Amino acid sequence: MTASLIDGKKIASEVKERLKAKISGLAADEIPGLAVILVGDDPASSVYVGQKEKTAREIGINSRVYRLPATTAQDDLLALIGNLNESPDVHGILVQLPLPGGLDRDAVITAIRPEKDVDGFHVVNVGKLWIGSDAVAPCTPKGIMALLDSTGVELKGKEAVVIGRSGIVGKPIAAMLLSRHCTVTICHSRTRNLPDVARRADIVVAAIGMPNFVTGDMIKPGAIVIDVGINRVDGRLVGDVEFESVSAAASWITPVPGGVGPMTIAMLMQNTFQLAGI
Ligand code: NDP
Repeated sequence: MTASLIDGKKIASEVKERLKAKISGLAADEIPGLAVILVGDDPASSVYVGQKEKTAREIGINSRVYRLPATTAQDDLLALIGNLNESPDVHGILVQLPLPGGLDRDAVITAIRPEKDVDGFHVVNVGKLWIGSDAVAPCTPKGIMALLDSTGVELKGKEAVVIGRSGIVGKPIAAMLLSRHCTVTICHSRTRNLPDVARRADIVVAAIGMPNFVTGDMIKPGAIVIDVGINRVDGRLVGDVEFESVSAAASWITPVPGGVGPMTIAMLMQNTFQLAGI
């Protein structure tokens, strides 16, 4: 079998076009507002924040970026979040992670009002996601669900194996697959016989951060494979999935780049729009 490509770039651009059309019809005081806080000068974080700012501008979302020095005190960061919580023209607040050492990530995320938590990382939204109540879903897993739905394959009853158990990808995508009635297994660095577990899956989501970790012999013929990984190897971006061998076995596969990455930003825009409550 040779897998069909799930074109995240195209699907993300359709999402953004739809949002842009909706926003262009709004009155000035209805325009969704996104506040992004970047603390420190981590180069990858800077690039991500720049992409978010650019995309927001392109589709008509009001975005404000607060670039703070790495030496920012926890209290000053919390005070800024407090102000943004009160600001009526800010609907979504995002603190770019990771934070520099010395800042308490959990306290910072918890300071964001759950109704403005555009990343879906606040404990209230995490809890809502797991109990299946209406929540702001984290952007990367939400994008993965949109990619899976784009295949037209019925998810109900499928065996899904998620490799990676982080709070931003592995756990929330497991919750979302479960709420769509998949039978979900989460693998991690202590999982025994991971290739055997992966071979059971109709859907594999790889979110590990190790280049080419998932190989063709770990894939059941006809499975759908979503590659979340972003790894830089010799200046090139590669995923967690060995594309060539896996696409020979799978029915659908996402490329890196051009798969999950563009969806993450598109879903951030969708979440901002959703939080504006229009
Ligand atoms: P984390 O480092 O937080 O988590 C990695 C997970 O992989 C952990 O649960 C870890 O297990 C597991 N793992 C590590 N080594 C192995 C192994 N040998 N076998 C099985 N499991 C293993 O990463 P993230 O979830 O934040 O990100 C994962 C990847 O996705 C990265 O490449 C990141 O850059 C990318 N990413 C891409 C995004 C996008 O928009 N496309 C968005 C977010 C992330 P354990 O818990 O036991 O340590």
